[in-house]
Amino acid sequence: MAPTGRLAPSPTGAQHVGNARTYLAAWLSARACGGAVRLRIEDIDSPRIKPGAAEEAVADLRWLGLDWDGEPVVQTARLAHYEAALEELSRRELVYPCTCTRADIAAAASAPHSNEVLTYPGTCAHRRAADAAALRADGKPFAWRFRVSDSPPYDDLFAGPQRIDLARAGGDFVVWKSSHTPAYQLAVVVDDAAMCVTEVVRGDDLIPSTPRQLLLYAALGLRAPRFAHVPLVVGEDGRRLAKRHGDTRLSALRAAGVTAEALVGLLAWSCGWLDAPRPITASELVPRFRLGAIPPRPFVLAADLLARIGYAPA
Ligand code: GLU
Ligand code: ZN
Repeated sequence: MAPTGRLAPSPTGAQHVGNARTYLAAWLSARACGGAVRLRIEDIDSPRIKPGAAEEAVADLRWLGLDWDGEPVVQTARLAHYEAALEELSRRELVYPCTCTRADIAAAASAPHSNEVLTYPGTCAHRRAADAAALRADGKPFAWRFRVSDSPPYDDLFAGPQRIDLARAGGDFVVWKSSHTPAYQLAVVVDDAAMCVTEVVRGDDLIPSTPRQLLLYAALGLRAPRFAHVPLVVGEDGRRLAKRHGDTRLSALRAAGVTAEALVGLLAWSCGWLDAPRPITASELVPRFRLGAIPPRPFVLAADLLARIGYAPA
């Protein structure tokens, strides 16, 4: 059966060249098999959502020549669905209320920790779901954590077999934040299942999220999609594309007169679908798409590559 893929921008900021490369791969992967593509706006991370960024993301995708089937799905309109999923998890004692602050967790963690993910030490794991009522009555803020019982290995369509020990890499994870909003892990599973997504193509920074999401699919009795995690775009210093590398927002390229075809051609070349960068549309790439042609390392967006498409980042 033809796959259903999806594009899932987060309007926490502007979409940049790195996002564009992942969207292009996700869109082509579905279209090359005659599949559908859905669009979802991931706007539940409320404090970080920028006004107008959702509309801009949609404009960026259209500019890139990517289209989608059906109406866009907006996460903030779907809170009842996430609540129902949390309800189900708590009824089955698969989640428990956690009152720890970030500082509590850092203090309890024995290993040195700088930027890495802290492993939750299980401080609140003795609680039952019903304990939430008393915490609420006391006005104590709490998050809901999912009890990690195992770490499902999975076969990544791009990155190959993956096995991450969740007990060591993060431990019990948050599915509902103390700010009364669903966490990404829960929302993405509920939505991908509801949207009948069968193929998720996204950046490889999300590989560690995948076994967590697989646990949630299983816990909720939902069918998991297949996953392909592709390498990210980095700057010349090898770090993930960010403001320090100059302005690589799609809106900035567009404003500077760069055509979508020129950018798509550069990205297609970086993915091994063209021998040299040359202007081409996303649709024209459909017969050229091969997931396995993408080099298995980050794409370094050197300044001279942007210069080739007539762009000098400010
Ligand atoms: N919204 C996420 C992002 O823009 C993508 C999440 C996902 O693909 O599962 O990074
Ligand atoms: Zn806790």
